[in-house]
Amino acid sequence: MEGKGKVIVFSAPSGCGKSTIIQKLRERGNIDFAFSVSATNRAPREGEKDGVNYYFMTDDEFKTHIDKGDFIEYCEVYPGKFYGTLKSEVIRRCNEGHNVILDIDVEGGENVMKLLGNDVLTLFIMPPSIDELRSRLQNRGTDSPDKIEERLSRANYEISFAPKYDVVITNDVLQHSVEECEKVIEDFIESTV
Ligand code: ADP
Ligand code: 5GP
Repeated sequence: MEGKGKVIVFSAPSGCGKSTIIQKLRERGNIDFAFSVSATNRAPREGEKDGVNYYFMTDDEFKTHIDKGDFIEYCEVYPGKFYGTLKSEVIRRCNEGHNVILDIDVEGGENVMKLLGNDVLTLFIMPPSIDELRSRLQNRGTDSPDKIEERLSRANYEISFAPKYDVVITNDVLQHSVEECEKVIEDFIESTV
């Protein structure tokens, strides 16, 4: 990828705590990074804003971007629900000199690994157990019971990709996970300056 910033990929089964960890890293402020806002054709959840959480698109808009080759990667993460990383978004952020965090699913993660090789750091956030994952999804309260089951039924498939990642961190005690993530990201940025 052109530009001065580094690319860091986070993947995890939905509900593991990936967004929480990224938010804590931002609050700690020790690492400069920008968040690559992905595009999706899923509906916004309560409180989510267009251009902040995602670029929310219609099915047709998403398809047009596919046809124009605008995505670095995209994936049908859930039936009929597409998510993709826009080239323009990552290039803009890197060229601004920021490190860029991609919060993407495992298939997207694998595509980015193939594309960027050693120029990307990939982290996989593992749940302590599937039962704990279920209770986190339930406590988050943002998804209906059938959406929660849909997410859980994909979790084992996603976990099977963990060995492909540079670092696997089990998100048990949040504070520890955040510190671990911060350490490996700092080491990566320093080693590749
Ligand atoms: P993701 O981004 O991976 O889908 P979230 O960051 O939304 O997951 O976290 C899912 C839920 O789990 C949230 O309610 C969050 O507060 C909670 N959570 C995150 N990390 C932990 C942790 N280490 N222990 C307990 N609960 C956690
Ligand atoms: P959610 O609907 O919970 O926001 O996200 C569901 C899944 O889509 C998560 O695993 C998230 O990492 C993934 N995702 C979000 N953006 C992208 C993207 O741009 N590309 C890919 N491949 N997956 C994404």
